[in-house]
Amino acid sequence: MNNKEKPSILLIYTGGTIGMMSNAETGALENFNFEHLLRYVPEIKQFNLNISSQTFNPPIDSSDMHPEHWANLVEIIHSNYNSYDGFVILHGTDTMAFTASALSFMLEGLNKPVILTGSQLPIGVLRTDGKENLLTAIEIAAAKNADGTPIVPEVCIFFNQKLMRGNRCTKISAESFDAFSSNNYPVLAKAGLEIQYDYKQIRPYNPAVTLVPHYTLDSDIIIFSLFPGIKPDIIKNVLTNDSLKGIIFRTFGSGNAPQDEWLVEALTESTRQEKIIVNITQCSTGSVKMHLYETGLQLLESGIISGADLTVEAALTKLMFLLGKGLTHDEIRSEMRRNICGELTEN
Ligand code: ASP
Repeated sequence: MNNKEKPSILLIYTGGTIGMMSNAETGALENFNFEHLLRYVPEIKQFNLNISSQTFNPPIDSSDMHPEHWANLVEIIHSNYNSYDGFVILHGTDTMAFTASALSFMLEGLNKPVILTGSQLPIGVLRTDGKENLLTAIEIAAAKNADGTPIVPEVCIFFNQKLMRGNRCTKISAESFDAFSSNNYPVLAKAGLEIQYDYKQIRPYNPAVTLVPHYTLDSDIIIFSLFPGIKPDIIKNVLTNDSLKGIIFRTFGSGNAPQDEWLVEALTESTRQEKIIVNITQCSTGSVKMHLYETGLQLLESGIISGADLTVEAALTKLMFLLGKGLTHDEIRSEMRRNICGELTEN
């Protein structure tokens, strides 16, 4: 039974390296369960917290994540929302930034911490980064202000001593412990000797809102990256696909594209058919500004929306979310440009 005095944390294991516990004696990988976790990370018992756990059955490599799994996570958080002070999601690193971005939209009115973490080396391996990531993620999920409100009431990724807004993150390394980066938004906290929160960057707790879970996403969309020499036939085939409803269009620099007439015509025809085309940059930092050059202005005139400084993960999941809500074409266009939950800097 939970002791009401202590904060309660729900640990949700979805799969991924962090939960593959390598037995120190045999070297064999053991499946995640909470008892194993306590054996390999006994420090968890030192927290003055009530910690419960749930596990995806079966656990999945994060490359196998689907929108249905995001909906499962939303359901778990929604149905346990009043019983816990914070949630920690253990997740493979490969698609963690997609899941974090999706959850930030699907958990409308979130007022509690949802902290995703994982690791590059399994827990139980001598040099694992999993222990530190897990312990600090739990501490952050339970952290409260003096008035009892949560310090970080939003979806975040904690990795390698950095707490980052979930919908601002991208996986940047397949090898380094420093696997995630938030290129267009400051880090929310740094964990050194103490956890130093940058309070002004964190979304404030809002007592006026309640959690509204969303379960339906529409993935009739593609991510499509420009490159010099791109061929008309291939682009036209993609853009004229009848089931296609939206395109995350990765352009050059500040949102520029070649000035080929066929390209502008194809894009204009698509927006005329009410396909939503969102312009984001291939650069890892900075924002789309289509009015700066002729090569960008032509895209603005063809009806393409600026994705400003959205990450590819946030742009994709935001468009899936807005299409899934059944909004009108104009509503989606305007919501896409609006900052819904800290994912974008309006310009
Ligand atoms: N392939 C694994 C996954 O994303 C890698 C990891 O856990 O970091 O599930």
